[in-house]
Amino acid sequence: MPSFRPDYYPDDAALARAWLSSTPLPPDREARVDIEARRMIGAIRGRSGGIGGVEQLLREYSLTTPEGLALMVLAEGLLRVPDDATADRLIEDKLGQGGFATHAHQSDALLVNASAWALGISARLIGPQDTPEGILRGVVRRLGLPTVRGALRQAMRVMGSHFVLGQSIEDALARAGSRAGRLYRYSFDMLGEGARTADDAERYFASYADSIEAIGKAAGNKPLPDRPGISVKLSALHPRYEAVSRDRVMTELVPRVRSLARAAAIRGLNFTIDAEEADRLELSMDVLGEVAADKQLADWDGFGLAIQAYGKRALPAIDYVAELAASLGRRFMVRLVKGAYWDTEVKRAQERGLPDYPVFTRKPMTDLSYMVCVERMLALRPRLYPQFATHNALTVASVLELAAGTDGYEFQRLHGMGDALYEALLERQPAAAVRTYAPVGIHKDLLAYLVRRLLENGANSSFVSIAADPDVPVEFLLERPQQKLGRPDRARHRAVPLPADLYGKARQNSAGVEFGHAASLDCLLAEIRRHASRVEAAPLINGVTSAGVARDVISPSDAMTVVGRVTEARSDTADTAMASAAAGFRHWNDTPAGTRAAALERAASMLEAGRGRFVSLLSAEGGKTLDDGLAELREAVDFLRYYAAEAKKLYGTTETMPGPTGELNQVRRRGRGVFLCISPWNFPLAIFIGQVAAALAAGNSVVAKPAEQTPLVAFEAVRLLHEAGVPHQALHLVPGAGEIGARLVGHPAVAGVAFTGSTETAWAINRTLAAKRGPIVPLIAETGGINAMIVDATALPEQVVDDAVMSAFRSAGQRCSALRLMAVQDDVADRIIAMLAGAAAELKLGDPADPATHIGPAIDAEAQQRLTAHIARMKGSAIAHYAGIAPGTGYFVAPHIFELNAPHELAEEVFGPVLHVVRYKASKFDALLEALGATGYGLTLGIHTRIDATAEYVAQRLAVGNVYVNRNMIGAVVGVQPFGGSGLSGTGPKAGGPDYLRRFGLEQTISTNTAAAGGNATLLATEE
Ligand SMILES: Cc1cc2nc3c(=O)[nH]c(=O)nc-3n(C[C@H](O)[C@H](O)[C@H](O)COP(=O)(O)OP(=O)(O)OC[C@H]3O[C@@H](n4cnc5c(N)ncnc54)[C@H](O)[C@@H]3O)c2cc1C
Repeated sequence: MPSFRPDYYPDDAALARAWLSSTPLPPDREARVDIEARRMIGAIRGRSGGIGGVEQLLREYSLTTPEGLALMVLAEGLLRVPDDATADRLIEDKLGQGGFATHAHQSDALLVNASAWALGISARLIGPQDTPEGILRGVVRRLGLPTVRGALRQAMRVMGSHFVLGQSIEDALARAGSRAGRLYRYSFDMLGEGARTADDAERYFASYADSIEAIGKAAGNKPLPDRPGISVKLSALHPRYEAVSRDRVMTELVPRVRSLARAAAIRGLNFTIDAEEADRLELSMDVLGEVAADKQLADWDGFGLAIQAYGKRALPAIDYVAELAASLGRRFMVRLVKGAYWDTEVKRAQERGLPDYPVFTRKPMTDLSYMVCVERMLALRPRLYPQFATHNALTVASVLELAAGTDGYEFQRLHGMGDALYEALLERQPAAAVRTYAPVGIHKDLLAYLVRRLLENGANSSFVSIAADPDVPVEFLLERPQQKLGRPDRARHRAVPLPADLYGKARQNSAGVEFGHAASLDCLLAEIRRHASRVEAAPLINGVTSAGVARDVISPSDAMTVVGRVTEARSDTADTAMASAAAGFRHWNDTPAGTRAAALERAASMLEAGRGRFVSLLSAEGGKTLDDGLAELREAVDFLRYYAAEAKKLYGTTETMPGPTGELNQVRRRGRGVFLCISPWNFPLAIFIGQVAAALAAGNSVVAKPAEQTPLVAFEAVRLLHEAGVPHQALHLVPGAGEIGARLVGHPAVAGVAFTGSTETAWAINRTLAAKRGPIVPLIAETGGINAMIVDATALPEQVVDDAVMSAFRSAGQRCSALRLMAVQDDVADRIIAMLAGAAAELKLGDPADPATHIGPAIDAEAQQRLTAHIARMKGSAIAHYAGIAPGTGYFVAPHIFELNAPHELAEEVFGPVLHVVRYKASKFDALLEALGATGYGLTLGIHTRIDATAEYVAQRLAVGNVYVNRNMIGAVVGVQPFGGSGLSGTGPKAGGPDYLRRFGLEQTISTNTAAAGGNATLLATEE
């Protein structure tokens, strides 16, 4: 059977048109849906005040209020905080935000009471005019934080146990076997985050295997589908469950899933593969197909998967599974859900600049898709056994009507939710089958799940959140998705623009690629293959190449392959370039800003169209992985478009200043003259083009000197800019080593320098400029940093590890923004360091052109030697927590993790994949900040904490250019996260920010006496 590869982004309106035009149910059947749904809504509303009213709790702490958000963060953060001091700070922080007093004693529901009581203990002391700081002082004075802390923890546990069937599979089975439990079938789920390390994956595997055995023992004698089962997340069984690691996944994960499936088959259980993120769908279908083909599973009808109706590929997925079942001569159980990752999908598509969203953006489209899928699945019986998972009464009633009864399928609900709804259903339809998805696990592991439940159910688009609200009319809840949608052209959310339109009219977002969509990835790879060819670079002066000494450019990946040749400039060539640029300045500066901007915009589009060539060159010359190369190309495109847009505003208009009558005062900007742009090898395209584009946009002519290691990308970029309409006289390229740079800096024609590189070189440039007797020349320098990440005990370890691994090791640590020093609170350090080491071990080093590679080489032999020497020194003086092994060829350096005693032991920037870790005590937090500030650098800083006040305090204390809270600390986006540091890290203004272009120009004020001709006509004509 061919792989599952349907259209990734079908058009919303086309789908809506097809679905809206299908024949509606006759009125009598619609009326029956109304009656059933009304009944169930009545039951849900009648339940208010009863035990287990979680819907009410969620409504009460609506997520649209600060209390709701604070509650979520508390729920997530509090239980995993091991030390009291941090727990106290977290409580202070969150209670300071909320208005919990208003919630105390409003409800009779046990759950609401428990939480409101705990939260209210402190909140009763809150007066309307108190400040958060004042309140907290009061709380501590009167009750003491331990009391507040204890009460809150208890409350969170109550909430947790509401959603979890048992802390162990035995507990859960016992509860499932109770009288109340026997109403339902069960699918048990092992709680926890996805695996980050091989150990995690093994642990989850063992836990699934043990549970299958235990479930099997307690399963009784009924045949499928009336048997319990297990739900499995593939991301828990493999640390790199991602499309680019497909080969590894197929060889390592498939046997694990097969082994679990065989165990489930022997016991005749239902075994469901949960649905995860959209970019994993093709991969999970590959895994499903491979496992399902196993002969030992042939006679088992319990195997299946979940399909998300919010995904635009839901119907093709159902058809595919049905065909797979037919081709193997077997049956599958298919759980239809709406989908749990909607917000994540939308954000991811925007960040990656995807052509469209893989999910619907309007809720009625998801609901409609769900019903279309229901129809299809019912029609595909018995090949498929449908399992309709929902807590939406209208959806349930509609399914009942479409299925004309309760035979041949089951409903599913999550434990702790939908109780009232399904009890009402079972009362009227005792033959209906309902399965409960029952999470099993200890409290520490339930938090992420709990937060997802709270988020999903508190959202005001969610049925459970509004169904329990008596102020919402039942009619509103009964409105069909078709009615809500109305017309096909309303299929998309108006407030959710396509990723390309994220920045509105000002500029287009750069286009990215979804690596989880095989067709997109294949297309990119084909373009790369097609355009890979040698480049012959040379100085380009007035568009003509100059002679000089030529040398081969060798790929850092194998230290062998010749990527191309570069002719390096001689000193007289450098002088000629400066003179030519000086000659070319006036014409370019006189060109209207709009025309200059148009050339840059054209260059952006040409860059996107020629991405294969550039990504291939970035990989061959700069050792960039596919992901890094594409990200860099996008950044270059964004720079071009952003500076073009800014230049039109700043250099294309004249600003009129306020002043006395009879006078016109105007300010306008123009270029300075010849701008020298000196760029580094680590972003040979993005930083190179960013500097050049900014200088050009402002009207300067430019002499660009790329890094010695990466002249080929620069040469191609300059040619592209020329082709896009930048005159040859305005932009000149001078490849060469440091001496050529020095020669250029010393030239009298230099009117400004933009430099990115080491602090040492920046000092040298600064000295040369300062020594000149002439106009004082501005220097815009971006230099290095000893970038730190602070991790306190409230942070989510898995998130910390994802972000730290990405920040420290991506691009082989060769980003100025990269994480160098992690400071982790000692109470949680052991766990986080162990997980970091495990996650680092899963990274693949190798040929950067291979999509599966995570880490490419260091840039050259010198860099490799410097890093290797540092690693050797560290092995002697620090604790090595992880020492990777680098491939034997090329200039690879493997990731390393070292623990230091104190921050000052890392005295200089180590530009490679070496992460240093220090532990700190919560009580010595200020000393830590003092030590971090003492480095003198201030480029990037990561903070992982759930305490907003801590994040704010740290950002306030440390003068760091880019602060990242609860996320990775690399990959600043142009126009979104203006980039650049202070202190030893740079001069500012920030690249990709609103002030950058101003620094590239001169200002001119023109004051005209408009009354000079003899009178102030304007004033005289002014009406009263
Ligand atoms: C037993 C069970 C198992 C589940 N397993 C999985 C699983 O493996 N994988 C998974 O992803 N989900 C799974 N879910 C689904 C998920 O967790 C939610 O419970 C479900 O989406 C809520 O749907 P509803 O019909 O109950 O509620 P409704 O309130 O009718 O629907 C809410 C859903 O609508 C969608 N939605 C909300 N806003 C928008 C919008 N603007 N545009 C488009 N769509 C929107 C979202 O999917 C949201 O979750 C499971 C649910 C159950 C009950």
